[in-house]
Amino acid sequence: CGIVGYTGFQDAYEVVINGLRRLEYRGYDSAGIVLDSENSDFAVAKTKGKVDDLVAISKDLSGKANVGMGHTRWATHGVPSDRNSHPHVSNNGKIALVHNGIIENYDTIKIMLTDKGFTFQSETDTEILVNLIQYFMDTNSEIDFPTAVRFALNEVYGAYAITVMHDDFPGVLVVARLGSPLAIGLGEKEYFIASDASPFVEFTKEAVYLEEGHMATISLEKGVDIRNIKDNEKVIPEVQELKL
Ligand code: GLU
Repeated sequence: CGIVGYTGFQDAYEVVINGLRRLEYRGYDSAGIVLDSENSDFAVAKTKGKVDDLVAISKDLSGKANVGMGHTRWATHGVPSDRNSHPHVSNNGKIALVHNGIIENYDTIKIMLTDKGFTFQSETDTEILVNLIQYFMDTNSEIDFPTAVRFALNEVYGAYAITVMHDDFPGVLVVARLGSPLAIGLGEKEYFIASDASPFVEFTKEAVYLEEGHMATISLEKGVDIRNIKDNEKVIPEVQELKL
């Protein structure tokens, strides 16, 4: 399973699809992609099967956006199917999320959100997380997108590497890690996310490996802001030089 994300000036579709191919060795049963271009809604494509199957249904998204993320799924909760594939999108259509790992307490959160009127399209543990983020934004008008992600992560336990996008914050990627790896590639006016550095070594030799319990907000305007998920304490990133 794997995650790839991109924000910059290149065709995000190409970067994400090629990146997913580099992560195929990790094993997976489904693949998906979401792209965000300014002034339009998310474009999502996902399917059970291989990255080639994803390309077959999504080719027309090529050249449409400079921001996006992709996922290869190794099903833990819910059978491999188109519907259970990631990305998952929140009820209001504004937030998209990809996840590797397991949310152990997804069932209690699902009951809570169902009580509040949320509906679910999949059988995954992951879909509760994207809706929990929406719930925190809906109920706290003063908090921003990364803070809502942080609040949601503090309610779940389990293991995760996630990347999250919000349609109202184009170009911003929020990532977090607990128990699953995630690397950030630092380019010139572009940033990459991936489960390991192989999807982006051809573009940059500088990387930050996100540490356990840390999250990062990544944007072209503000760079990479790393925080401790528990207490929001700022973390000074350690930039690694990738050797090939
Ligand atoms: N637990 C999630 C699911 O079953 C993510 C699986 C993965 O790591 O790819 O959808």
